[in-house]
Amino acid sequence: MSTITIALSKGRIFEETLPLLAAAGIVPQEDPETSRKLIIPTNRDNVRVVIVRASDVPTYVQYGAADLGVAGKDVLFEHGGEGLYQPLDLNIAKCRMMVAVPAGFDYDNAVRQGARLKVATKYLKVAREHFAAKGVHVDLIKLYGSMELAPLAGLADAIVDLVSSGGTLKANNLVAVEEIMAISSRLVVNQAALKLKREALEPIIGAIAGAVKE
Ligand code: ATP
Ligand code: MG
Repeated sequence: MSTITIALSKGRIFEETLPLLAAAGIVPQEDPETSRKLIIPTNRDNVRVVIVRASDVPTYVQYGAADLGVAGKDVLFEHGGEGLYQPLDLNIAKCRMMVAVPAGFDYDNAVRQGARLKVATKYLKVAREHFAAKGVHVDLIKLYGSMELAPLAGLADAIVDLVSSGGTLKANNLVAVEEIMAISSRLVVNQAALKLKREALEPIIGAIAGAVKE
């Protein structure tokens, strides 16, 4: 029986993937929040989970270091998806990719044709393509976190970030002015593994598909 490795990130993706794995008869034997182990055994001898950074999941699966993984559309868009088969939208970790600005900032005027906007974000590719499609010139500033601070500290005019409740924007006197895309997480599968380990992978993918909630 071939060994199956599943790449997951800690936090919401791990938590929300657990019931889907359970439907496939897979139960991780440790909790990554309390365990320091990066390789977590499951109840099945031939299935293990590796814990990686959310943005590293596509890379592990692309190179076949993991056969399966769960990654947000935000992460997949930035990665590009090379070498990945994406059979299922899991409908978990849902949020929206938005443009946000300080309350009172005249966004419509700032993005008139030919204008120039300073945008801070972790999602360079998403932001570049969004503003290019609008014909707005942007100076993109790459950040790794706490995007909300950038307009407040004078680093940028606007941010491109994930928003769920909007609580963090509100607490920092920012408003969402444009939705770029709806985000949820997808199952990703290594394309070569899908062929070579078909017998082991197909029942897992099928059971996960049957457990996805609308
Ligand atoms: P890290 O926290 O390690 O810097 P990250 O922020 O990308 O990385 P998570 O916060 O665990 O990691 O987010 C994982 C995925 O969950 C994201 O890629 C996105 O698809 C989704 N996500 C992010 N923030 C939210 C949110 N507030 N509500 C729902 N889903 C979210
Ligand atoms: Mg996060």
